[in-house]
Amino acid sequence: MGFAERNWAGNVRFGAARFHEPRTVDEVQSLVASATKVRAVGSRHSFNAIADTVGDQVSLSALVRLVEIDTQRGTVTVDGGIKYAELASYLHEHGMALANLASLPHISVAGACATATHGSGVTNGNLATAVLAMQFVTSGGDLVEISRDHDPGLMDALTVGLGAFGVVTRLTLAIEPTFDVRQTVYEDLPMPTSAGQLDEVMADGYSVSLFTTWCHDDIEQLWRKVRAGPEADGAGPDVSTRRFGATAATRKLHPIKGLPAGPCTDQLGVAGPWHERLPHFRIGFEPSSGEELQSELFVASDEAPEAMSILRSIRVFLAPVLQISEVRAVAADAMWLSPCHRRASIAFHFTWIPSWPQVEPVLATLESALAPLLPRPHWGKLSTITGPVLQTRFERLEAFGELITEWDPTGKFRNAYLDAVLG
Ligand SMILES: Cc1cc2nc3c(=O)[nH]c(=O)nc-3n(C[C@H](O)[C@H](O)[C@H](O)COP(=O)(O)OP(=O)(O)OC[C@H]3O[C@@H](n4cnc5c(N)ncnc54)[C@H](O)[C@@H]3O)c2cc1C
Repeated sequence: MGFAERNWAGNVRFGAARFHEPRTVDEVQSLVASATKVRAVGSRHSFNAIADTVGDQVSLSALVRLVEIDTQRGTVTVDGGIKYAELASYLHEHGMALANLASLPHISVAGACATATHGSGVTNGNLATAVLAMQFVTSGGDLVEISRDHDPGLMDALTVGLGAFGVVTRLTLAIEPTFDVRQTVYEDLPMPTSAGQLDEVMADGYSVSLFTTWCHDDIEQLWRKVRAGPEADGAGPDVSTRRFGATAATRKLHPIKGLPAGPCTDQLGVAGPWHERLPHFRIGFEPSSGEELQSELFVASDEAPEAMSILRSIRVFLAPVLQISEVRAVAADAMWLSPCHRRASIAFHFTWIPSWPQVEPVLATLESALAPLLPRPHWGKLSTITGPVLQTRFERLEAFGELITEWDPTGKFRNAYLDAVLG
């Protein structure tokens, strides 16, 4: 990958004094042991300074590739630098699949899981819920392995770990037999106004996303992904032309009105492999708008209609800086820093124009308007919610801070972002 001074969006300039691309785990161990400040970096898709350091920034993208499938146990073990795109193609070629993917496959598995990256689906947890075991290099340079079988409590604490406890060199993920998905986009969905209506829409498929600017009475697009096959999802082949009053599009669409749909995965109900339908964007193409900032807030599912009504009430305020908003469902889990910790959630995503001075005041207003619903921000995106408030939103954040001090007593993995989050 090579040294990159900035993150994918270009809004964060990294302050690392040195950049390394070790090829072996031994090299990672020596690097970490001899560093005073060190930080792993994945594919740099986070929108904040979570992956930054003033010392040594370590990318595992050059690590000797490892993809070891165990079909009996339904697992795959991968190295800490692999991206979903590479892993997904390999799994599919070998008849296997991951349960879910984010909107793009371009991101690293370790980086995505460290920030609780997610796709959609009322029965789908975030991507870190697939992690069954991790091997990592501690601040002292030791190699440690933990697993759901032997250390369930530690896995809950560290899987969504923000890169704060070590450099993850290996992950074991749950997999299943490969499956096909049909993706259909519907236009002009009447705004769901009750929790019951929204639940029904979000549960109407394996993975459902709503795209809106909040400017219209209707939701502009409903993206419905159903597992193909006669019995899948109880939905059968996706031949319906209307869902909840929305109409099936007759041409491929981009979530952002007016952008060409070429970078998007195939739609129009045509079945295709899971990894070519679950993400919205195809590998090899620019995902999303390419010129953007992002934020995302998670609220409890039953509070989501209230959140939608708040967002509509401030739509005039949002409009000048909002490119598109996406609404997704994520299942509850037990991981300490998961935004879905013990809370089945609806995630409200915002793709902003690429101008932080213009976006920041709008985001601050939006976050305070939603504050009564106790929204939890995405760790890899932009937020104005401060550390003390975060402590009240993530009930295990303080305990996480204490645990991190045990694993990293000299604060080797600490950076300004973590200092702000953990205090
Ligand atoms: C266009 C676009 C679309 C996106 N879509 C989605 C989406 O659909 N859903 C969603 O939830 N998010 C989405 N995101 C956000 C993105 O998934 C997260 O920011 C994710 O963390 C990116 O992974 P990364 O590999 O780039 O991590 P980075 O940004 O490089 O790093 C993130 C964190 O992971 C840590 N880390 C990375 N590798 C390791 C390692 N080996 N060991 C220990 N720690 C490590 C870093 O230290 C850092 O703390 C999107 C981002 C972009 C730019």
